[in-house]
Amino acid sequence: MTPAEFREYGKKVVDQIADYQEAIESYPVLSTISPGDIRKNLPEQAPEKGEPFETILSDWQEKILPGITHWQSPNFFAYFSANASGPAILGDLVSSGLGVQGMLWATSPACTELEAHMMDWLIDLLDLPTHFRSDTEGGGVIQDTASSGTLCALLAARERATRFRSNEEGLKSHLVAYTSSQAHSSVEKAVKIAGLGRTNLRIIGVDKEFAMNPDTLENEIRKDREEGRIPTFVCATVGTTSSTAIDPVHTIGEICRQHGIWLHVDAAMAGPAAACPEFRHIHDGIELADSYAFNPHKWMLTNFDCSAFFVRDREVLIRTLTILPEYLRNRATDSGEVTDYRDWQIQLGRRFRALKLWFVLRYYGKEGIRRHIRNCIELAGRFRSWVGEDPEYELLAPTPLNTVCFRHRKGDLFNEELMNRLNAEGKIYLTHTRLDGKFSLRLAVGQPQTEEKHVKGAWDRIRETALSAGSRQKNGSGSAGKRVFTSG
Ligand SMILES: *Cc1c(COP(=O)(O)O)cnc(C)c1O
Repeated sequence: MTPAEFREYGKKVVDQIADYQEAIESYPVLSTISPGDIRKNLPEQAPEKGEPFETILSDWQEKILPGITHWQSPNFFAYFSANASGPAILGDLVSSGLGVQGMLWATSPACTELEAHMMDWLIDLLDLPTHFRSDTEGGGVIQDTASSGTLCALLAARERATRFRSNEEGLKSHLVAYTSSQAHSSVEKAVKIAGLGRTNLRIIGVDKEFAMNPDTLENEIRKDREEGRIPTFVCATVGTTSSTAIDPVHTIGEICRQHGIWLHVDAAMAGPAAACPEFRHIHDGIELADSYAFNPHKWMLTNFDCSAFFVRDREVLIRTLTILPEYLRNRATDSGEVTDYRDWQIQLGRRFRALKLWFVLRYYGKEGIRRHIRNCIELAGRFRSWVGEDPEYELLAPTPLNTVCFRHRKGDLFNEELMNRLNAEGKIYLTHTRLDGKFSLRLAVGQPQTEEKHVKGAWDRIRETALSAGSRQKNGSGSAGKRVFTSG
């Protein structure tokens, strides 16, 4: 494709994306296709001869769009948000256009330097501890995901605890990791990958607000020590995936200090709330963390992937992950004056992800980020108050931020079928969790385009759907109604 052709088609693609943004509310939020529907419409093999770009441009809309779940819809209330935004999309386009590999400082100095600089900007934006800054012994890096950040933290913790001798016979089987029953599944995955073994992960119970119980944590740590094991790693969560519960990081941090344990704080979704001074308390105690991560790619207007990961002592992380084959040797690396981010992550290659973050932070400013966060939290608060005022519904967890956990009082099966019917209808999309064994609906507000009318619309849809089910049940009119809505 020549630059002239690229110019022509590139403009068309941008137009198509803008059209998509304008029309997004007209699509069913959750894709309604059946398994295999997309592949059915694709040729068996790649074409032998190249095709006109025009055909490709119309095909993605015709053949792919029906299989898309519209994460950017203002009526998307499922899981967590995965914000895209104009400046982030365009920043990513520039990154793709440059097509650089940022594994070493020398392979594109701007890629490393802008990244280090953006990480420092984030420290200022969220008022994170200054010992995470690049001009200290710590530092920040963009990982692909929070899962990778957790794994890197655990690997560094493992090496610190064993003085870089974790490969010695049997040592790994003595190391123990701790996290709460509400922590993200990536912690368990990291424990598996790091070779500690599932039996060396202690799942700590939670209080009635679903936050880790620090007394239980301390007891487990003491027990492990008495039995000759080495408590190595604690992962605390700020904003759990289920209910946005916030672990008592300060108390947990003091326990970790006392026992020489690495504390990682996972704030993947909730982190950006700390851009607003009134929500900064979510990070109370964070100064005791050895590492911390949050995802601009969830709730901070930056397209996937972009996960910000910070460490207090970068030497431990780098020594854990560094490998220097001959073909990567270069003068800048040898001089020790530069950062080579390949040593801060699992993989070697890396995209220029700092560009989209730079575009986002400059375009919206700190003020724009705060406005977005406040809007979501305010709307979630309004939804919560509507639920609270309706005697047919109950709230199942506190709402410290943007996620409301609630359900109809008719029980598990009823709520499950209510959710399935709402999602099949396509006007809104929401998902569930289980809290205290109860099937709970979750409404997470995280989209920049979501306004009060969308949240109010969601509440109306929920109540109408539940009501129509109730009356159908009473009249016994139609077996479908009976099958779909059963009191459980
Ligand atoms: C979403 C989430 C994760 C996983 O994030 P990835 O970036 O997809 O790995 C981990 N922890 C928490 C608390 C999350 O909300």
